[in-house]
Parts: sequence; C-alpha cells; structure tokens
Amino acid sequence: MVWLAPYRCLGKWEPLTVALIGDTTLHRLRVAAETARPVNWTPYSGFIVLAAVEHRNGSVWGGSNIEIANYSLSKHAEEVAMLTAMHREGRGDLDSSGERQSRHWLKTLYVAGAAPCGSCRQFAWEWADESTAFVFEHVDQEELQRKPLPSIKLGPIEEGLLSELLPGAFGPENLGIDEFGRPEHRAKGTRS
Ligand SMILES: [Zn+2]
Repeated sequence: MVWLAPYRCLGKWEPLTVALIGDTTLHRLRVAAETARPVNWTPYSGFIVLAAVEHRNGSVWGGSNIEIANYSLSKHAEEVAMLTAMHREGRGDLDSSGERQSRHWLKTLYVAGAAPCGSCRQFAWEWADESTAFVFEHVDQEELQRKPLPSIKLGPIEEGLLSELLPGAFGPENLGIDEFGRPEHRAKGTRS
C-alpha cells in the first residue's frame, strides 16, 4: 500500500463489521481517501468528497474533487481515484498473448461524503466485474470539513455490488468489446 497515513489515525478507529470488504479494508480505504485531501480543489462549492479505490492487486488509492471554473470540466473524487490507480498500478491481468491488460481491475469503490453521481457509476462500471463492491459512508459535511476522515466516527455504511447500482447497465459488451479491449469476434478467433 502506498497511501499509508500515520498510524496515529488508528487511535479513534471503531471496528464495524462490513459484510463485503471487512473492517481492515474499510479502514485502509478511509486512510487512502484522507491522504488525497490536500489535492482537493473546491474553491467554488466548498463541498468535500473523498474517495478511494482498491485495486485487484491489493493496493488502495485516494482521490478528491477537482473543480474547474466553468464547472462542467470538474473531476469527481471517484474519477480521480480510479485514474490514479490505473496510472500507478496498471489495469490487471494480461491476455493470453501477454500484451493487453484486462479492464477488470476495480475491486472496491469507496466514497465518503456523498453517494457517487451517475457519471461516476458509469465510469466505475468500465473497470468492474461481477464481484466489484461499492461502499458509501455517510459523513456529515461539516465534520468532514474539520476533521481527518479516519478520526471521524464511522458513519452509516451502504455497501453492495457495483452491478446493483446500474441495473441493465450499458457497457463494453454492448459494443462487442471483451475485457481486454478487443472486439469479441476477434477474441474468439474468427474474423468477419
Ligand atoms: Zn461523480
């Protein structure tokens, strides 16, 4: 793990059983999300969202919101976390030729302060498989403004499978793309 915060944060950690990811992973994700706070750029809204992702290789990466003056170009914390993870760790398994990485690198998506918007859910779906988990922690915005996330008492948690967030999702399969980014007819050894 790269985004390891000082362990003084552990002093106020209160374990809570989380069915899908477990207490240890939840804590690592909270710490990773907090470590991204200094990069936060929200001079317009002042609204803080901290996110983190767990890569299939076990590493965790944080992200925070980056607002742009025209608003529409702003990047959400979840997107920043996912892009950081991909650029630092790559995407995942290689295909049989050893050349292309799988898109299924996203093991867990965590966000504190707000539920992910529709755009971020779709962004995450690109990298998910059927086992990808989401975890939303409800954190009071005022408290999140004042305290490091790991020192805040754990808020109500919503968790589940990412596939539950996008019923009937549109994804790479709808465009005939397999998990390695290849047109599926080519992956099966046939050509049209
Ligand atoms: Zn979003």
